[in-house]
Order: sequence, then C-alpha cells, then structure tokens
Amino acid sequence: MSRSAEHVMQVLYALRSAGVTDPRVLSAMERIDRGRFVRGHFAARAHEDVPLPIPCGQTISQPSVVGLMTQALDIQPRDKVLEIGTGSGYQAAILSLLARRVYTVDRFRSLVSQAREVFQSLGLHNITAFAADGSHGLPDQAPFDRILVTAAAEDPPGPLLAQLRVGGIMVLPVGQSDTVQTLLRVTRTGDKGFDYDELRPVRFVPLVEGIGPE
Ligand code: SAH
Repeated sequence: MSRSAEHVMQVLYALRSAGVTDPRVLSAMERIDRGRFVRGHFAARAHEDVPLPIPCGQTISQPSVVGLMTQALDIQPRDKVLEIGTGSGYQAAILSLLARRVYTVDRFRSLVSQAREVFQSLGLHNITAFAADGSHGLPDQAPFDRILVTAAAEDPPGPLLAQLRVGGIMVLPVGQSDTVQTLLRVTRTGDKGFDYDELRPVRFVPLVEGIGPE
C-alpha cells in the first residue's frame, strides 16, 4: 500500500476538520491510498477532499464523508458488513480493514470488476464484490451487523432493514431531493424496533433500481 506523506497528511487534515476522531477509522484511512481508486484525468486530484467522477457516470465520495460514515457505523472486528454501491471500491477497502468480512454490491458490472482488481492488488481478501441490485440487499448472506448505503434513497429500503441484525447499525443518505439528502443512522433495537438519528446533510448519487447496462 502506498503511504506517501502527502496522501496521509491531506487525508488526516480533512478528516480532523470534519470531526472524525475514532483512531481505528483514522488508521484505516491512512492505510488506504485513494489514488488507487481514481483513474485518468482526475487521478491528480485523488487526495483532495472532494467527490470525483468515476466511470458509469458515478462518483467516489469525498474522504471526509467516507470517514464520517465509517465512524457512524462503529464497526467491530468480528462484524459482517454489507455495502450497497461499490463504485470505485474505496469505501469497501476501508471497511475491510475494520471488519471481519465485507460484501459490496453495485448495479454496474464494470465497476465491480475494476474494484475487484484493486482489492486484489492491495491484498484485501475479505471483500466479496457482486454485480446486483442492492435495493434488495443480499438475502443469502443476511443478517448483517452493519449496512452502509452509498447511494441515496427516499426512505431506508425495507429489505435492508430486514437484513440488519438486532443490535446492528445501518448508515445511509435519505431524502427526496437529488441535490441534498440527510445522512441517517438506523439502529435495530428489536425485531420490529428501529432508532433513527439524523447526522448531517450530504449529497449522493441516487439509488437506482435494476442492474446497470455496463
Ligand atoms: N462507495 C463508492 C461510491 C459510490 S457512488 C466509493 O467508495 O467509490 C454510488 C454507487 O451506487 C454507484 O456506483 C452506483 O452504480 C451504485 N448504485 C446505485 N443504485 C444501486 C443499486 N440499486 N444497487 C447497487 N448499486 C447501486
């Protein structure tokens, strides 16, 4: 893994300014170089705290938002985590250093295969990436200790709530607007009980139903 001093300093500065203080999250983000997940023209800006375009018209989230979402999940070392929206694979790579096992799905096959190559080259062997419509979750692997959705839905999808273990946490952007949504943390308190915390405004690409064309 590349650990250029420039990369580490820029990321840590952005994380501190955003209020990311969990030492496990900071250490995981120091170890994953975002430069490995951004290709072409925008690679030169990989270490800035901004979202950047990736193929298929999608975006890689900004590091401070990745840090805040990861911190809100409070991942424990034995956890089985589901991520909806693999995108570049950057967020999944960070999750993989904190959890026992990560399942990540994206509706674009080409994004999933590119992300798999990066996971392999970084030696991250506890991530399983699938091309699938993540709004249905992954019933075969449920229940999950933690679920992270990195695309915005109007409401928390029912199948994802159902696949969250009792005591588990899901973090996701929700809202009706295309331009700004609310980052929500859902804690499953019982068979039918859920607590909801609104964390902050965020901006994500939409959760789209069905498998993608590429
Ligand atoms: N977590 C990513 C950024 C995700 S961008 C990263 O670290 O780079 C949001 C992603 O959600 C896009 O790649 C988009 O294709 C995916 N997405 C949107 N709707 C989806 C759905 N129904 N199922 C699976 N993935 C979906």
